[in-house]
Parts: sequence; C-alpha cells; structure tokens
Amino acid sequence: MSTIIIAPFRGPHDHNDCLEEAIRNAEERCDSKGLRLTELRKRVLALVWKSHRPQRAYDILQGLENYGHRPAPPTAYRALDFLVQAGLIHRIESLNAYIGCADPNQHHTSQFFICDECDTVAEIQDTALTRKLNKNANDLGFTPRDQTIEIHGLCEECNKQE
Ligand SMILES: [Zn+2]
Ligand SMILES: [Zn+2]
Ligand SMILES: [Zn+2]
Repeated sequence: MSTIIIAPFRGPHDHNDCLEEAIRNAEERCDSKGLRLTELRKRVLALVWKSHRPQRAYDILQGLENYGHRPAPPTAYRALDFLVQAGLIHRIESLNAYIGCADPNQHHTSQFFICDECDTVAEIQDTALTRKLNKNANDLGFTPRDQTIEIHGLCEECNKQE
C-alpha cells in the first residue's frame, strides 16, 4: 500500500485523548531530536490541537491571551514556525492556517482533504503520488522544494446533510 491515512475525518470522540497523545508525541519527538519544547511552544501546540480544524495565527494569539499570556505576535509566529519545522504541525496554505500532525514521528510529504462545510481536515500520505510528481518535475528539469496538495470539498458527514 502506498497510501497511509495519517488522520481520517473524525466523528464525535473524546478529543482530550487526541490532545494528550499530541503532547506526548511532541515531547518524544523533541527529546529524540534534541529540540527544546518550551512552555510557550507546548501551549501553542495545544492551541493548534484544539480541534481537527485548522487554526489561524490569529486564533492562536487569541487563545494565548485567554490563558492570560500575551506574547508579541512575532514570538507566537516563531513558535508556530518551530512546530512546523519540527514536523509537529502542518501549514494549510490555502487557508493560511495550521493543523496538528497525528503522526509526527516520521518525516512525510502529505496531502490534505479539507471540508469546506465543517472545516475538518483529513491527512494522507500517498508516496506513489509524491514519487510521480517528483518524476514529472525531474522530467521538466525542475527541482521541487515544497509540495502542497490541498483538496477542498465536502466530508462524508456534511455530504449526507446536503
Ligand atoms: Zn480529536
Ligand atoms: Zn503529518
Ligand atoms: Zn464536513
């Protein structure tokens, strides 16, 4: 199988479990990579993981403020950058927002399905697709730096309600 489902669309569930696992994964990942997961970075991570919907930088700043913590915006942006670089969260370019990664312990190029109705996001890793695109790029003498595949539409739940 060349496709791994990293995060499916989720129905109702106890999201605390997801949050706890995300923090645990982040601690392990940072430990093994010698990266420093500061309190602020951890708090920003928890805010991104507030749900399975992408969070904008503005939402994160707002969330930090609700904690009674008000860092200068560049500090929060740097924390977001750190989390992206560490592979703990992904940036959803088409929404200018961030989503937590459910499997940060391996480096991956993933593809995203984004529901325009409920905003939830599913993440898959289709290595055959990535390979194919890299080959197409090479055939054109092009060196890809970054690959962004974001597909907008309706999730199964929202489709049923149409
Ligand atoms: Zn959850
Ligand atoms: Zn991921
Ligand atoms: Zn939906």
